[in-house]
Amino acid sequence: MRMKGKNVIVTGGASGIGLASVERCLEEGASAVIADLEGGEGAARAAELDGRHAGRCLFKACDVTDTAQVDRLFAETVAELGSVDAVFNNAGIGGVTPSDEVSDDEYLRIIDINLNGVFRVARAALRVMYRQGSGSIVNCASILGMMGQSQTAAYTAAKGGVVNLTRTLGIEAAPKGVRVNAIGPGYIDTPLLQALDDELLQGLISLHPMARLGRPEEVANGFLFLASDEASFVTGTTLMVDGGFTAGKS
Ligand code: NAP
Repeated sequence: MRMKGKNVIVTGGASGIGLASVERCLEEGASAVIADLEGGEGAARAAELDGRHAGRCLFKACDVTDTAQVDRLFAETVAELGSVDAVFNNAGIGGVTPSDEVSDDEYLRIIDINLNGVFRVARAALRVMYRQGSGSIVNCASILGMMGQSQTAAYTAAKGGVVNLTRTLGIEAAPKGVRVNAIGPGYIDTPLLQALDDELLQGLISLHPMARLGRPEEVANGFLFLASDEASFVTGTTLMVDGGFTAGKS
C-alpha cells in the first residue's frame, strides 16, 4: 500500500493513462479524484471505481483551460478530503497537421490544454502543497517533449515546454517540501491514438526498440513512483516510459 491515506487528483482521469493511474492509486490505498471534462466518461468511471474501492474515488468536472474551474477543483478537494498529496497533470490532446496548414485555433487549443493547462493545475497545486509543506506534482510530458516530429508543431512545443517548466517548478518548490517531476511516455495504447491510421501507427511502433506500444498501466506505474515517497529525492526531472524510444537509434 504505497499510497495509503494519500489524496490524489488526476486531470484527464476519465480515460487512457489517467484512468489507469487512478486505478493504480486506488489499488495502493489512496483516495483519488478523477478531474475531467463535464459530460464525458468521468462520472461513470468514478462511480464504478468508488464501488470497487470502498468509497475512495470521486469525480469533479474540470476543464484545465479554465482557471476558475482548476482553482475550484483544488478548493473542493481540500474541503472534502482534507489535503492534496499528489497530482497527475495528465489532461492532454493530440494533433497532427502540417505546420503551414495549422490554424490559430488548433495551435492555440493544443498549447492551452497541454502546456498552459499544466501550469494552471501546477500553480493551484503549489498553493495547497506549500500550505501543507508537502506534496508531489507529476506533469505529463512525452517523447515528443524530448525530440521533434513532423506535423506536430503545437504538441511538441507544448510537451517540450512541460519538460522545462517541470525543471523550473522543481527548483522553485524544493525548499517548500514539494516535488515536481514529469513523465515522458512513448506511444501508449489509449484512445488518443485512435486518430492515427494503421500504417502510420505500425511505423511509430517500429521506432520503439521494444517494438510495441506501451500500456497505460506501465505509465501509471511510473506516475505512482514519482507521486509516492519512494521518489523522495527526485525532483525537476522527466522519467521516460518509452520502451527505449528516446535512448537512440538501434
Ligand atoms: P486520452 O485517453 O485521450 O485521455 C485524455 C483525457 O484528457 C480524456 O479523458 C480527455 O477528455 C481529457 N481532456 C481533454 N481535454 C481536457 C481538458 N481541457 N480538461 C480536462 N481534461 C481534458 O489520452 P492519453 O493517451 O491517456 O493521454 C494522456 C496524456 O498522456 C496526455 O497529456 C498525452 O499528451 C500524454 N501522452 C500520451 C501518449 C500516447 O501515446 N497515448 C504518448 C505520450 C504522451 P475527452 O476524452 O472528453 O476529450
